[in-house]
Amino acid sequence: MDTYAWMVRFAELVSADAERLTRLDSAIGDGDHGSNLDRGMRAAAEALSADLPPGKVLMTAGRTLVSKTGGASGPLYGTALRRAGKALGDASEVGAVELGAALRAALEGVQELGKAEEGDKTMVDALAPAVTAYEAAAGEGLAAAARAALDAAEKGAEATVPLQARKGRASYLGPRSVGHQDPGAASTVLLFRALAETAAS
Ligand code: ADP
Ligand code: MG
Ligand code: MG
Repeated sequence: MDTYAWMVRFAELVSADAERLTRLDSAIGDGDHGSNLDRGMRAAAEALSADLPPGKVLMTAGRTLVSKTGGASGPLYGTALRRAGKALGDASEVGAVELGAALRAALEGVQELGKAEEGDKTMVDALAPAVTAYEAAAGEGLAAAARAALDAAEKGAEATVPLQARKGRASYLGPRSVGHQDPGAASTVLLFRALAETAAS
């Protein structure tokens, strides 16, 4: 698994979809999710280099996100990537099983920090089913597992539409948060789209 290519592709997808992410955040937040994550991932992509070990790539991306991304999503994505990188350690090669453990560690980090459960209408609603689907398909190899994770993330993000937010800024809206997709769940889909594309190539 080329984690450098994954992060660079994630940065590209966020950049291409920044306006849509910001529009989603305008409906139930403060309208900055796309610009927050775009700024953070641009800085992360610049801080990375292809010759870093795979775990170090994710740790560096995570550290950069924490320092450069405003809002709640910076520390959450930053923690996710740092934990994933830490789980990979110094390994020079990352296979399907190792990546599964890294994704699980990322989810645990997000939940420790943000205290969100599935159904609270946050990025966890895309991340948690994606990690579970990845693990279930890991025996079929990296590309198949990443594809399964992407499908699950998409379904999870779609499923946030009818939910009322219980965490983050959108929760201040109470019932008025119903009927809109959570922006962080939408950007988590891009993380897994980037992974699936990278794993397939
Ligand atoms: P802010 O809300 O500070 O402006 P962003 O707009 O960048 O930050 O990110 C908002 C996203 O962060 C939400 O859509 C949600 O997915 C995610 N989020 C917010 N709080 C939490 C939390 N406690 N746990 C998990 N994800 C959260
Ligand atoms: Mg916001
Ligand atoms: Mg904000």
